[in-house]
Amino acid sequence: MGARLYVISGPSGVGKSTIAHAILDKFKDSIVYSISMTTRPIRCGELDGREYKFTTVEEFEKLIGQNAFVEHAKVHDNYYGTPREQIENAVARGINVLLDIDTRGAQNIKKNYPDAVLIFIAPPSIEELRQRLFKRHTDSEDVIERRIHNAIQEIEMSSKYDYIVKNTDLAQAVDECESIIEENMKKG
Ligand code: ADP
Ligand code: 5GP
Repeated sequence: MGARLYVISGPSGVGKSTIAHAILDKFKDSIVYSISMTTRPIRCGELDGREYKFTTVEEFEKLIGQNAFVEHAKVHDNYYGTPREQIENAVARGINVLLDIDTRGAQNIKKNYPDAVLIFIAPPSIEELRQRLFKRHTDSEDVIERRIHNAIQEIEMSSKYDYIVKNTDLAQAVDECESIIEENMKKG
């Protein structure tokens, strides 16, 4: 059975990483997480090499020059990129990969991997999104407002996705994502 890339995108604070954890927990043996590289500062509770590989702008730009990313983008003023080697290794070994990347990254992945499955996680409302970002206590008020501004543009891109899952009730959103993955796994 061929390996597939599963991409989740959605505005910051919508619940992508919470949903990704649940997916990875359920599909332990068949899906690995693509650990992106980023130049954004590490957040409290994150570990270098687990959520992201954290690096400097200088190093990131050097890697761009070496074609080390399948796709990369500047999101909220920081660089983020999907390391090529991780994806190619997993696909060669027949292992599916889950990516949590922005809307431009998702479109670039689809260009390179046409059978990638793109899932957009949508918030119940912008106000609920703001509340989640505040409650997460990881970003300043300025950063939150910038993320909300970007969210509106990101939601407009959701029509380009294969699936849209609204994260109102977390358990239900997780169930929906897992069903989508199971359905695509059956296709082989
Ligand atoms: P993202 O990875 O998209 O930035 P997170 O997974 O960090 O978002 O979720 C942002 C916050 O919202 C977290 O505190 C998380 O526990 C919470 N959250 C996620 N899904 C829901 C939901 N359906 N209802 C309420 N809170 C949620
Ligand atoms: P955060 O800083 O909140 O972890 O992520 C900010 C945004 O960057 C999210 O929309 C996330 O999906 C996106 N992102 C994370 N890694 C990558 C990546 O490798 N490539 C792209 N294009 N976007 C990424």
